[in-house]
Amino acid sequence: MIRFEQVSKVYPGGQKALSDVNFHLRRGEMAFLTGHSGAGKSTLLKLITVIERASAGKVFINGHDIADISRHHVPYLRREIGMIFQNHHLLMDRSVFDNVALPLVIEGFSHGEIKKRVAAALDMVGLYGKERHNPIMLSGGEQQRVGIARAIVNKPALLLADEPTGNLDPKLSMDILRLFETFNDAGTSVLIATHDLGLIARMKYRTLTLRQGRMLGAREIGEPLRPG
Ligand code: ADP
Ligand code: ADP
Repeated sequence: MIRFEQVSKVYPGGQKALSDVNFHLRRGEMAFLTGHSGAGKSTLLKLITVIERASAGKVFINGHDIADISRHHVPYLRREIGMIFQNHHLLMDRSVFDNVALPLVIEGFSHGEIKKRVAAALDMVGLYGKERHNPIMLSGGEQQRVGIARAIVNKPALLLADEPTGNLDPKLSMDILRLFETFNDAGTSVLIATHDLGLIARMKYRTLTLRQGRMLGAREIGEPLRPG
């Protein structure tokens, strides 16, 4: 689903964010991405969603070589990816329904189809019946669920989450991870970037660790660990 081959990213100012990163997230796999602030997690996610382009190496997403995708076709690739943010990025002056419907409206689905799919997505995240509420009226955990419903409403092959539990207490964080598990059980690939090592320790999933732009211990490409 995601494959990085010797990927490096140097920002225009000369800041090195990723160095020679190799990893593979298999189709249907769920994994964590961790590392200190500044380790390169956001940059790695931005290469997957083509907000940034690699300076060197190859990035493959759902079978596509990103280098072959023109700027014009990037929005089509992004439809295959559901993105979840720490701060939800919800429209607070619109209803829960409108927030979740947004990706479908952009894709041009019919009104009837949108109603059906939004209801199904809200049901899956446990928010059935809250369509007419404004997100501002909901708790932090519920707002995060609206963000998750919006991310999965068009049934993406891949879910990416950037610190999805950053503002939640341990109980709510665990509930959110259980929710990701249900999507993963249904076949969706999931990559979760998080600082929360306590949360990771309680789950059975593989952890990819970045340190100063380098991926530790990920050697699926067959490259031996270099000495030093
Ligand atoms: P986090 O550690 O939560 O990912 P950061 O503070 O590292 O947050 O980054 C927040 C945002 O600012 C990210 O989108 C990141 O790419 C961007 N950013 C980080 N460092 C710089 C920088 N030196 N110049 C410009 N943008 C940056
Ligand atoms: P993390 O998400 O793990 O906190 P980032 O990917 O945001 O890490 O940042 C990795 C490194 O790249 C940091 O040194 C950061 O300052 C730098 N960086 C991130 N975004 C930018 C940017 N847009 N321009 C310049 N440097 C950046």
